[in-house]
Amino acid sequence: MHFFKYKNNELFAEDVPVKKLAEKYGTPLYVYSHATLLRHFMAYDDAFDGYPHIICFAAKANSNMAILRLFAKNGGGADIVSGGELFTALKAGIPSKKIVYAGVGKTDDEIRFALRSKILMFNVESEDELKRINELAGKMKTKAPIALRINPDIDPETHPYISTGLKKHKFGIPIDDAVEHYKTASRLRNISVIGIHKHIGSQITKVSPFVDALKRILILLDELDGQGVNIRYLDIGGGLGISYKNEEPPVPKDLAKSLLPLLKKRKLTLIMEPGRSIAGNAGILVTKTLYLKECEDKEFIIVDAGMNDLMRPSLYNAYHRILPLKKGRRTETFADVVGPICESGDFLAKERELPKVRQGEYLAVMSAGAYGFSMSSNYNSRPRPAEVMVKGREDFLIRERETYKTLIDGEKIPEFLK
Ligand SMILES: *Cc1c(COP(=O)(O)O)cnc(C)c1O
Repeated sequence: MHFFKYKNNELFAEDVPVKKLAEKYGTPLYVYSHATLLRHFMAYDDAFDGYPHIICFAAKANSNMAILRLFAKNGGGADIVSGGELFTALKAGIPSKKIVYAGVGKTDDEIRFALRSKILMFNVESEDELKRINELAGKMKTKAPIALRINPDIDPETHPYISTGLKKHKFGIPIDDAVEHYKTASRLRNISVIGIHKHIGSQITKVSPFVDALKRILILLDELDGQGVNIRYLDIGGGLGISYKNEEPPVPKDLAKSLLPLLKKRKLTLIMEPGRSIAGNAGILVTKTLYLKECEDKEFIIVDAGMNDLMRPSLYNAYHRILPLKKGRRTETFADVVGPICESGDFLAKERELPKVRQGEYLAVMSAGAYGFSMSSNYNSRPRPAEVMVKGREDFLIRERETYKTLIDGEKIPEFLK
């Protein structure tokens, strides 16, 4: 469910015509719906109501401060994977005690920053990392709260690039070695073992991988309990899918219905790390048609948004619905929607059936709220798009469009070349 709808054949973001936003802010432009973000966040909160829980939004899906602030104001936390995300989350007002920190390659500086900030816990992904955190915490005369990220060897049945919980992946600690690693962790003087973590992949469209993974984790929890390792936080990661095309993924309520019965009688605080399922369908990328190009057996719609603005089609061959802002009776054609970047891999859609588009016409690339702006780059020296949040009839600029000046910020010509 989202609030990008046609009214009288015109596409609206909540109560604002998208065309008005494109004209006001220019394109390419990311537009987010406040009501959709809130609704998706609350869907988790309501579904798990009655069981202690923290919803730690995965900042890598969308790290705009206004969006993080919205979740913070509604009791949310953050799942972070870098020092930069920690910095942004704190600036956005996320309480440090609601921040969990994953990632296979945390640097010393990042670990120290997280220790100083007193985050809820580190989701540790290897024994080397565990020992490093212990050393650094010792030097800072503090104790690091940790969970081990367990790789439960469950196939989430999603795209290989966004699947993370199989034995062959770089993420986490193999479940078979978990007890041993927990014992090691418990013996370390500056480590305080408080949790267990897993995250098996993204865009998962079934409940069963979540159930199977949790069952494995719970067996492990009992084993740890027998060994005197006390776990208080159970972090089940993120990964719930969304509908890009015609997928019918479960909603948080379905997840709760299957998972909560397994957790009854256990005194745990549940942590969830949804990213895509909250932000994905809460954002669109608006782009302008620059040129139409008809070749012998191919048609191209050349737009002003490229793979640097929305990388998912190029990176994962991901499908994003593309809609005209004005619906009407038009002949349908098949075309490739491509950007201005000098790469053949620069496309937003391939062989897509679309109403015949006019030069200068705006198009909306749907489901672009997660892994859209956050994956964007300046490739081809292109300033990154502006971001706008719509709330009812109002619109708010939440990130300025970059300028040519920001492109060269920090660059220096050495003396000998002057
Ligand atoms: C990416 C990631 C998430 C979020 O995944 P979604 O599919 O966007 O819900 C959660 N936890 C970790 C550790 C991640 O790396």
